[in-house]
Amino acid sequence: MALKLYNTLSREKEEFKPISGMDVGLYTCGPTVYNYAHIGNMRTYVFEDVLKRVLAYNDYKVKHVMNITDVGHLTGDRDMGEDKIEKESKKENKSAWQIAEFYTEGFKEDLLNLNIIFPDIFCKATENIDEQIEMIEVLEKKGFTYKTSDGIYFDTGKVKDYTKLSHQKLEDLKEGARVEVNDEKRNATDFALWKFSPKDTKRQMEWESPWGVGFPGWHIECSAMSVKYLGEHFDIHAGGVDHISIHHTNELAQTESATGKEPWVNYWIHGEFMNIKDGEKMAKSTGNFLTLKSEFLDKDISPLVYRFATFGVHYRKQMEWNSEIVVQAETSYNNLLNKVKALGKDVGFVNMELKERFLDSINDDLNMPKALAVLNEVFKYGISNADKLATILDFDKVLGLGLSNIKEEVIPNEVKNLAEERLLARNQKDWQKSDELRDQIKKMGYEVKDVEGGYEISKM
Ligand code: AMP
Ligand code: ZN
Repeated sequence: MALKLYNTLSREKEEFKPISGMDVGLYTCGPTVYNYAHIGNMRTYVFEDVLKRVLAYNDYKVKHVMNITDVGHLTGDRDMGEDKIEKESKKENKSAWQIAEFYTEGFKEDLLNLNIIFPDIFCKATENIDEQIEMIEVLEKKGFTYKTSDGIYFDTGKVKDYTKLSHQKLEDLKEGARVEVNDEKRNATDFALWKFSPKDTKRQMEWESPWGVGFPGWHIECSAMSVKYLGEHFDIHAGGVDHISIHHTNELAQTESATGKEPWVNYWIHGEFMNIKDGEKMAKSTGNFLTLKSEFLDKDISPLVYRFATFGVHYRKQMEWNSEIVVQAETSYNNLLNKVKALGKDVGFVNMELKERFLDSINDDLNMPKALAVLNEVFKYGISNADKLATILDFDKVLGLGLSNIKEEVIPNEVKNLAEERLLARNQKDWQKSDELRDQIKKMGYEVKDVEGGYEISKM
C-alpha cells in the first residue's frame, strides 16, 4: 500500500507524492528553549520521528530540519508580553544565552533517551538573524508590512486566503485574537515580524536592523530557515495541532507572500495533544507538566516505555496521560523485550507477508496501534524464531524501540543514536554517511556490525 498521510491543508488522507524523485524535505517546529520539554511535547517529537522513519522505511531519502527557538517567543501568542527566554533568565539569574544553551542540551538529551533520530540540521533563530531580516525586507518591498510604535507588522488583510490551513472563519480568528488587544494593529490577526527593543530596558538578545535595534517575531524564523535549508517549495511541515491556527498560519502567509509562490509546503501534518488526567492542556507556561526525567529516569523506568506508550493511540487522537498508563506500558514493553530475548540470537529472513501487513498499517496515516498488533502477531506466526527475530528487527527500524540492542543493555545512548542514524543512512543507500558514522562510533570505542534487518553493537 502506498503511503497515505492526512493533510491538514486539504483535510484529507492523501497519497504521499514527493516533489523530486525519492528526496523528501521535512521541516518540524522545534522547542522554545526556556524550560525542559514536558512529556506532552515529547509526544509530538516521537510522532515526527515515526513519520521520518516511515518515510525512510518506504525508501525515501529524508532531509530533516528542526529549528530551536531561542529568541522572540513572547509569553502572549499575539506579540504581547515578555520574551520567554529573557523572562526565565531573570528568574534563574543566568544570561538568556545560558538559558537557551542549557535547555537546548536538555532537549537533545531527551531525544537521545527516546531514540529519536536527530534532524540533519538543527538551526537556531539567533544564528539566522540576517536571513530573517532579508525576508522581512522582501515583504516590506512587496507592501505586506507596516510599522507601529513597537515593531514591524505583517498585514494579514493583504493575504488572499489567510485561514486556508486552519479552515477557520476569519471572523472567529479575529474574535480569538481580540483577547490581547494592540490598538495599532490594522487587523486583529496581524503579527510582528520585527519587534523593537523597549526604550527603557536593555534586552540581552538584540540586533541592528533596517528598522532599528530589536529582535525577530517568533514566526519569521521558521519561514526564513526552512526556505534557506529546504527551498521555496518542499514536501512536509509538521508540528502539534496548537500550531495550526496561529504559528503555522502565519508562517504560511508570510512565506508565500515573500516568495510569491504557492504552495510553499505540500503536506501539513499535525499531531494531537497529550493531556494530563483532567483533560487540561499540558503546557510549559502553566507549570502543569511532567518531564521525561521526573516520570521515567528518576524512577528508573526506561524512557522507551514512554515511546512505546505513545504508539497505543493514533497520532491524530488526543491522549490522556496518567500513572496507570505508565504501569501498563512498562509491563507490556518488558513483556515484549522478554519475548524478543526468548527468540535467541540467530537472525533469519524477514517474512514478507508480515512485512506487507506492517507496511499497510504504518502507510495508513501512521497507524501505530495497528502496527503494534502486527508486531504481536509475529510471535504467534508459523515461522522459525530466527525469521521472527529478523522480521521484528526490520519493524524496529520504524518502531525505534531498541530491540536490536536488548542484549547490549549498557551501550550509551549517544552510540545507539549514531547507530540508528547509520542504519537510516544505509537504508537510504548513503554509504558515505554510513562510513562516517561507523568511524564516529569507533572513536567512541564501539563497533557496529551489520546483520540481516539491523545491526549489532559491541564494545571494542
Ligand atoms: P513549544 O516548545 O511550546 O513551542 O512546543 C514544542 C512542540 O510541542 C510543538 O510542536 C507543540 O505543538 C508541541 N506540544 C506542545 N504541547 C503539547 C502537548 N500537550 N501534547 C503534544 N504536543 C504538544
Ligand atoms: Zn515553526
